[in-house]
Amino acid sequence: MTQKHSFDVIVVGGGGAGLMAALFASQTAKTAVLSKLHPVRSHTGAAQGGIGAALGNLEEDHWEWHAYDTVKGSDYLGDQDAIEFMCQEAIRAVYDLEHFGLPFSRTPDGRIAQRPFGGHTNNATGKPVRRSCYAADRTGHMILQTLYQQCVRRETIFFDEFYVLDLLLENGAVAGVVALELATGELHLFQAKAVIFATGGHGRMWEITSNAYAYTGDGVAVTLRRGIPAEDMEFFQFHPTGIYKLGILITEAVRGEGGVLINDKGERFMEHYAPHIKDLASRDVVSRALHLEMQAGRGIGGQRYVYLDVRPETVNHYAALDGRTRPDGSPYRVTAEEIQAKIPDIIDFCRTYLGVDPVKEPMPVQPTAHYAMGGIPTDINGRVVGDERGTVVPGLYAAGECACVSVHGANRLGTNSLVDLIVFGKAAGQDAARYAAGAGFQPLPADAEDFARQQLEHLRHGAGTERPAEIRREMQRLMFEQVGVFRTQEGLEQAVRQLQDLRARCRQVRVSDQGRAYNYELVNTWELGNLLDLALVTAESALARRESRGAHAREDFPRRDDENWLRHTLARLEGDRVTLSYKPVTITRYQPRERTY
Ligand SMILES: Cc1cc2nc3c(=O)[nH]c(=O)nc-3n(C[C@H](O)[C@H](O)[C@H](O)COP(=O)(O)OP(=O)(O)OC[C@H]3O[C@@H](n4cnc5c(N)ncnc54)[C@H](O)[C@@H]3O)c2cc1C
Repeated sequence: MTQKHSFDVIVVGGGGAGLMAALFASQTAKTAVLSKLHPVRSHTGAAQGGIGAALGNLEEDHWEWHAYDTVKGSDYLGDQDAIEFMCQEAIRAVYDLEHFGLPFSRTPDGRIAQRPFGGHTNNATGKPVRRSCYAADRTGHMILQTLYQQCVRRETIFFDEFYVLDLLLENGAVAGVVALELATGELHLFQAKAVIFATGGHGRMWEITSNAYAYTGDGVAVTLRRGIPAEDMEFFQFHPTGIYKLGILITEAVRGEGGVLINDKGERFMEHYAPHIKDLASRDVVSRALHLEMQAGRGIGGQRYVYLDVRPETVNHYAALDGRTRPDGSPYRVTAEEIQAKIPDIIDFCRTYLGVDPVKEPMPVQPTAHYAMGGIPTDINGRVVGDERGTVVPGLYAAGECACVSVHGANRLGTNSLVDLIVFGKAAGQDAARYAAGAGFQPLPADAEDFARQQLEHLRHGAGTERPAEIRREMQRLMFEQVGVFRTQEGLEQAVRQLQDLRARCRQVRVSDQGRAYNYELVNTWELGNLLDLALVTAESALARRESRGAHAREDFPRRDDENWLRHTLARLEGDRVTLSYKPVTITRYQPRERTY
């Protein structure tokens, strides 16, 4: 028997965006959070480096500088009205978090400490600016703990380990969601006036990734199946510094604190690619530089990695060459103890997983799949926009990494995702509660959960013999090789063909575990289906875009082409067919220019 529940607002996902949305929605609306993980195990907890806001605590800074850097970082694909809103609101968002009790690192005089991060600059000088607010290198962990405690205090209702399989739309408006209770294997029907998707990213479709196992793009896949397009899916960020082969992320804060990238010849090669801000150029630029160095045989020992060096002697050497100073104007110098205090978790990861002590030895790093710029299209209130004309789907919202507002455009700056979660999570929560106050429930049809039930039954009892682990491995390798840092027409066409094959094979999968309680084989197979849908949409969107912009680098079309491609992609998936349409980018005050760092 399917259990039934009814709430004004359902939030799907208990990460930073979901908790922020729930916190604000629950002030006036009956709200529940459904999460496949316990909320504090969400990927937001892995965020290390910080949250960007122009507080100007250590040096001059302005939200307009933050906005310009974000527009430039996005390679002019970000919507500038949304970016302006976010960068203005970022300041309040950080103080909101402080007042909620977040233990930020502090300056000696007690203000929130800030550090430099890739692509964030003083617009007057072009030099890196201290804009990232942080709690050592565990900022995301602190955000999750703080928001979760606030939600508990406000008695938000949580359904932990409930896996959302389907979205119900009736009369063109939201009616609810269908979820699987992982502990029992039972289906639950949640009727709701408004649903907010905050399900995070989909980086598990690549072989080397910094992303958690849960990053399977469920929210985008569910909405795609219900006819909602996915925006700008060809833009996926590769972070330049994942630990070689493991993908474990080494935060950009390491370079913010003075760490440098070194090739096999001992050169600080970023000087050639970004003469102005060098190692702190935006991530797309640095990842491509690593790739080109390795392609030219200058990876360490000719291998597919370079060194990230944060040893005090190296940091002090290059800081002196760069003329870097402390806020009081004295020369920038660090000791091993200071490095240890600024990035304790990173040092711990490296000692544990690599047997390398970063204070004494350089770390081997390679570009690693990291962040989805694309996702469910929304406006600045978190409302889902269902077509190129801007038509809002009544009651449907999205926020956080699964959404595309779009503030990150073709490439996100470090620290801007945490800002996005807090600013747009709050906006979505407030707007959903307002909407629910004036809306009625849509009637649920008698067969509301049939689609989800049939699909699950097919996986449990199908006649096929394909093994999900094999298909997953092939997808991840294919995506890393053909839909990675650099792309070509030929490679993308091959990717589309092979992804179609893999999707066909995935329909022949049968899970061996017939149990009901915590059947993760079943859930992981469902997730593989979601990843394959999104992989196909990503490859098709990338194949169509015949230019290079931000994270989308085409070897056969190396230039940005504003005349034809200054526009957002909207992809729809029907069966095996992806159809693409486009919508304009909103430009307010920053006209597209060539990007140099
Ligand atoms: C290693 C790492 C370091 C990072 N560092 C930084 C940083 O320093 N600064 C920065 O700005 N950004 C950083 N990022 C990016 C940033 O952390 C993420 O983009 C952001 O935390 C995503 O938050 P979210 O709320 O959208 O999703 P998440 O925090 O991942 O939450 C997703 C939630 O959705 C739930 N969910 C998913 N699918 C379902 C389903 N089918 N049913 C029910 N529930 C579901 C999950 O249980 C989870 O609770 C980092 C990312 C990584 C991977």
